[in-house]
Amino acid sequence: MNIAHFRRNARYSLPGAPRAKLAAMRKLNLVEIQEDAARRGGRCLAETYVDSLTLMDWECAQGHRWRAVAHAIRQGHWCKKCADERLRFPAQAVQEIANARGGACLSPYSNSQTKLEWQCKEGHSWWATFSSVKQGSWCPQCKGERRGRRRINGSAMAHTIAMIQKVVPPNSA
Ligand SMILES: [Zn+2]
Ligand SMILES: [Zn+2]
Repeated sequence: MNIAHFRRNARYSLPGAPRAKLAAMRKLNLVEIQEDAARRGGRCLAETYVDSLTLMDWECAQGHRWRAVAHAIRQGHWCKKCADERLRFPAQAVQEIANARGGACLSPYSNSQTKLEWQCKEGHSWWATFSSVKQGSWCPQCKGERRGRRRINGSAMAHTIAMIQKVVPPNSA
């Protein structure tokens, strides 16, 4: 007796759930799963979707392969090998993130809470922790210029100056 087969039959015999509708839902879910994976630069290798707790094969952007249930991926889990490598080689992760944004990190990495010096593709440099860059913060000067062009007035300018002053490291004066 095949358990998966038994489960499928049990589920599909529920009243009020027409077969065609369930088939459509399954298809939609596989598309959603593929989109989830694509957003992370990887893909789901499975061609059929059974349910969110059935193991499926996945591949990350680095070509690592592993098995996980779709539910875990939806919860935000992804390639464990990549996560381990980021922990083991954070210095490399720092450069990868900087390169992805067309810039560089000028400081040696020590830990995620220490301020590092960064450089954007325009050549501006500033200090920020790896955590804040990982969360999406980037060159405050570029951000300030964009904001200034959009809305030139005294308070926006003062805000920009305050932001630029904030990123100067305490010991650089
Ligand atoms: Zn990986
Ligand atoms: Zn910049």
